[in-house]
Amino acid sequence: MTDCVFCKIVERKIPASVVYEDGETIAFMDIGAVNPGHTLVVAKPHVENVFGLDDTLAARLAQTTARVARAVQRAFQPPGMSVYQANGVPAGQTVMHYHVHVVPRWEKDGMDLVWPVKNPPREELAANAEKIKAALAAG
Ligand code: AMP
Ligand code: ZN
Repeated sequence: MTDCVFCKIVERKIPASVVYEDGETIAFMDIGAVNPGHTLVVAKPHVENVFGLDDTLAARLAQTTARVARAVQRAFQPPGMSVYQANGVPAGQTVMHYHVHVVPRWEKDGMDLVWPVKNPPREELAANAEKIKAALAAG
């Protein structure tokens, strides 16, 4: 994709502080780093979001994410770590090329994700599980 900032980084058309790459994935420092060590794990092909990943690419990304998280942990020794990934504008995605945030976390570091717990009744959880199981069975 000619107009995609992460494709440009993959193609080395714009600079980035790359920490890791292999055939399918690349990891580099987030330019807007929330905390020191904030790293992005990115698919090399232009895949917009999680729905575009085949099983092989999903597995490679999970492997790179775990590997980078371990390295960030070793390098920065934070007491916590968020692994965060957004799909679509309502979910907070701003760069429409699949990426995972690896963010070292410290107490009261200001990063906040509002999580409005609804505690739905058991019947509602069961009905929602049935919908997802039917979708999984359909492929
Ligand atoms: P998201 O909001 O989950 O789509 O995250 C996109 C992230 O990409 C943000 O945290 C940005 O700071 C980061 N970002 C945007 N442009 C660049 C760039 N050129 N190099 C590194 N990170 C970038
Ligand atoms: Zn792209």
